[in-house]
Amino acid sequence: MSTAVSNKKIWLATPTMHGDELKYMTEAYETNWMSTVGANINEVERIAAQQAQKKYAVALSCCTAALHLAVKHAGETLYGKPPISHGALEGKRVFCSDMTFDATLNPVVYEGGIPVFIDTEEASWNMDPVALEKAFELYPDVKLVVAAELYGFPGRMDVIKKICEKHGALLIEDAAEAMGATIDGRQCGSFGDYGAVSYNGNKIITGSAGGCLLTDDIEVANKARKWSTQARENAPWYQHEEVGYNYRMSNVIAGVVRGQYPYLNEHIARKKAIYERYQEGLKGLPLQMCPIMEGTEPNYWLSAVIIDREAMCRQVRDDSTALYNKEPGKTCPTEILEKLAAFNAEGRPIWKPMHMQPMYRLHEFITRSGSGRAKTNAYIAGGAEDVGADIFARGLCLPSDIKMTAQEQDAVIRVIRSCFD
Ligand SMILES: *Cc1c(COP(=O)(O)O)cnc(C)c1O
Repeated sequence: MSTAVSNKKIWLATPTMHGDELKYMTEAYETNWMSTVGANINEVERIAAQQAQKKYAVALSCCTAALHLAVKHAGETLYGKPPISHGALEGKRVFCSDMTFDATLNPVVYEGGIPVFIDTEEASWNMDPVALEKAFELYPDVKLVVAAELYGFPGRMDVIKKICEKHGALLIEDAAEAMGATIDGRQCGSFGDYGAVSYNGNKIITGSAGGCLLTDDIEVANKARKWSTQARENAPWYQHEEVGYNYRMSNVIAGVVRGQYPYLNEHIARKKAIYERYQEGLKGLPLQMCPIMEGTEPNYWLSAVIIDREAMCRQVRDDSTALYNKEPGKTCPTEILEKLAAFNAEGRPIWKPMHMQPMYRLHEFITRSGSGRAKTNAYIAGGAEDVGADIFARGLCLPSDIKMTAQEQDAVIRVIRSCFD
């Protein structure tokens, strides 16, 4: 029995600063480039494009803004410019990742699109290419796919891109969680027609906030820069021909991002060490670490695990609470998360799949075997046709903070082990 409590909170993922961030922020202050113009922004755009192996990066206030401008541009490219009061995807279906953070697809809804959710591949925890093919069989007229990499462990985004090309669809790649991860040596964020990365406070590197839109197309980069600064036309006065946004990154924030980039690889190495320590420390328990697909190199942002079916005690969740029946030798994410919290450590459930969210309950959800809707929020005994629901039921994210010490992580491992008593 582990009754001890860590006197220092062990976090899921927090910012890790190194000093250069303050230098660049101070430079912005001392030179009075305290707006959305300046050397830090220029540098971030240069470094971000180089890191992602794309020609252009556009620095924005957040990754959600990058995704929004990508969705809007894709919509206008595919369907033409809408009337002022309409979204660029009005009434159009868009195939979206199902097991992701909702920011991946919120912009689809901002633009009037209808998300159709594609089930998750058991082998990769990312969008299932087989289910995506199924979706194109059912809806051959769909022209846009928005796919995210989960927890920094990529699936086969290259295969997803090929499927999109085969069906004449554009791909938006949400690499918010996967900066620095690779597939066959190619950077995540570089596979889509549009890519996006995030500098949110809990990501692998951070600006406290911020994001970049990635593209090889100068037209897209120029359009995104224009739209993100209120869509001003070239004139001596404020001249407007289209709707604009206030989405540009601040030069102060850009100073933090600029200072963080040189440490990206160090952060990845430290996250990898955390994953491997869990792998070693949890050996022998009836659970699996989140999968690493052949040919991919994750950035290891969050270490997640999934409990074997036969080691799951009964667990039931409604829209805001979870209950479980303890059984000897068995556990569930709810018990582990409660024990971690009691120990002063922060875990988190798997991102709840979008097709299980109240706001999307009537939306289509496409699995390998065809179209369906959320069947149940409870743990599905036996087989798992709804892969997302199954991973949500049995999986959880473990404390993955870079500043967690080996001793602290060993204590977390002991807490997890005690749940299987
Ligand atoms: C964090 C995150 C986002 C949003 O990033 P922001 O920079 O906070 O807007 C989008 N998609 C995924 C998958 C994320 O994890």
